[in-house]
Amino acid sequence: MSDLLKGKNIVVMGVANQRSIAWGITKSLHNAGANLIFTNRQERSYKKLVKLLEENGIEAKLIVTCDVASDESIQSAFSEIKDKVGVIHGLVHSVAFANKEELKGEYADTSRDGFLLAQEISAYSLVAVTKAAKELMTEGGSIVTQTYLGAERVIKNYNVMGVAKASLEASVRYLAEDVGKYGIRVNAVSAGPIRTLSAKGVSGFNEKTSVITEKAPLRRNIDQDQVGDATLFFMSELSRGITGEVLHVDSGYHIIG
Ligand code: NDP
Repeated sequence: MSDLLKGKNIVVMGVANQRSIAWGITKSLHNAGANLIFTNRQERSYKKLVKLLEENGIEAKLIVTCDVASDESIQSAFSEIKDKVGVIHGLVHSVAFANKEELKGEYADTSRDGFLLAQEISAYSLVAVTKAAKELMTEGGSIVTQTYLGAERVIKNYNVMGVAKASLEASVRYLAEDVGKYGIRVNAVSAGPIRTLSAKGVSGFNEKTSVITEKAPLRRNIDQDQVGDATLFFMSELSRGITGEVLHVDSGYHIIG
């Protein structure tokens, strides 16, 4: 436990179950004293979240529905947060989606609709929620998203999601410039492969984790808690001089040629 985020109101988007990266982040932020507000899309995720919070003795300040595919949904979520919480100091964006059939085979086979869907949910959503959240960040704040090495390199089967993550990382830089003048920072954590519901949608997940244990400097895979602590760093004043950055939490795998 620490007081790093004591009194800070932080919105966490993307807890689907106990394996979600956003759940690892929730634990780290809670242990640092943050007040947490959650958004989720599906009823199923809402029920899982409520159960997890109860089991772990974490009290949510608020839970609201938010489907990032809809401007109205984003608007109504953030206006409810404004009404019930007021000022927020942080936003965790841990949301992505692509059709399963586009996450195998050749990237050249990506459909127009599949490309646009991956971009919309996995990259544009950060732009849209930053726009909504910055109105509530009147005391400055920190926005953190989740990306993957497939943005920088060709990683087998990651295909359309790799291109969406490249767009997400470029958005981090453009958004960081936009909101820096309001004292708001925007950064990304680039995590190594972690077995989650979304990761299951990408073919050949086991190959990805075994290459980490073989080749990464630390010779071990990372977990949700390690991403949680890196996100906590970005949320806290410890990272006050950093914005527009992509931080790899991948046992050092990205430095290996
Ligand atoms: P999860 O499946 O646990 O989380 C994905 C979340 O995205 C779910 O909570 C889901 O909500 C949400 N989501 C999808 N579509 C929408 C939408 N239209 N509106 C709102 N929310 C939506 O998987 P992860 O924890 O793995 O994924 C979290 C982030 O981490 C993603 O950006 C992912 O790309 C990234 N990441 C994952 C890695 C991994 O190996 N697992 C590695 C590096 C980055 P719901 O269930 O309610 O639909």
